[in-house]
Amino acid sequence: MTALPPGATIGILGGGQLGRMLALAAAQLGYRTHVYAPEASGPATEVTAHWTQGRFEDAGKLRAFAAQVDVATYEFENIDPHAIAYLSGRVPVWPPVEALDVARYRPAEKALVRDLGGQTASYRQVASADELRAALGEIGAPAILKTTLFGYDGKGQVAIDTAEDADAAWAALGKPPRLSTGVPAIVEGRVAFAAEFSVLLARGLDGAVASWAVPENAHRDGILATSTVPAGDAVLAQAVQATALARAVAERLGYVGVLACEFFCTADGPVFNEMAPRVHNSGHWTIEGAETSQFENHIRAIAGLPLGSTALTGTGVAMRNLLGDDGWADALAEPGAHVHLYGKSDARPGRKMGHVTRVWR
Ligand code: AMP
Repeated sequence: MTALPPGATIGILGGGQLGRMLALAAAQLGYRTHVYAPEASGPATEVTAHWTQGRFEDAGKLRAFAAQVDVATYEFENIDPHAIAYLSGRVPVWPPVEALDVARYRPAEKALVRDLGGQTASYRQVASADELRAALGEIGAPAILKTTLFGYDGKGQVAIDTAEDADAAWAALGKPPRLSTGVPAIVEGRVAFAAEFSVLLARGLDGAVASWAVPENAHRDGILATSTVPAGDAVLAQAVQATALARAVAERLGYVGVLACEFFCTADGPVFNEMAPRVHNSGHWTIEGAETSQFENHIRAIAGLPLGSTALTGTGVAMRNLLGDDGWADALAEPGAHVHLYGKSDARPGRKMGHVTRVWR
């Protein structure tokens, strides 16, 4: 395994806050970054010297980008895997395209987890209101209808309280994207959970795995609000089992980089919800709360460097997202609070503008 030397260039697909924090971590390790994104500007532009504005379907621009980077990664999963496959033929791309294929398609990630012995919500794939009605007859209500692709932050989801809601729910989902393969939607039984948590792990090019303490996550309107470490006792009792499952997922996929798996903590043990083949909002606390952040370990992994320690730097950590026009001035005045702002100017409701982390020593 050859490690990337300092001064090498890491390509990052996607120009949002995750790209920004990846670029900052790369700079700390002496790497240059080159961001490729469809937008003209974004949170990652201000912190990288090289930036290509291009569509993910633009083979010419992707080819030029590949020629200018030594390794590439991506900061969000709603990228056409064809773009990643195309790049992978020219430059190493991590996580591997197989991981992106699975993580972006809900039925595939659930099938993989079940194959590995993990639990998921009961689910059926549905392509019409009739199929939804039949599926609800099998799995029962309450349930949640979700698009199979392009779901994030609770978008593309409709709650179903009773089977009679099937037609209204199908209509509310809107016209799902047309897929060349696969089904447009999935209906899941609503899981009765005591808490939500996530497993964050990094897997190196040499197959070494490091995982962080599991954060307990609270969502508001489908968007992450807070992550807290250590998690409560109910979650802690399931952390080892869930971490072993996430590790098995990473190994099956030949994964390199940071992988995030979200779980429900239920009376029957951990129930896998979904995975993200990238650094994750519920891991932002690791910047100050762990010896090595998720961003640094992602860069270390894809650069072929040894992974850093994931040990906690204190006795507890709390991360709060700054959404929409949530004030950050108060946090600045709070001793010991670490304020991160992503440089976005338009504070739309629910938009992730930054986050604040507190570490208890
Ligand atoms: P997702 O986009 O799948 O992560 O869903 C966003 C949030 O909706 C989750 O974090 C849960 O709070 C809730 N949710 C999603 N799926 C289910 C489910 N099957 N049962 C209960 N709550 C769910």
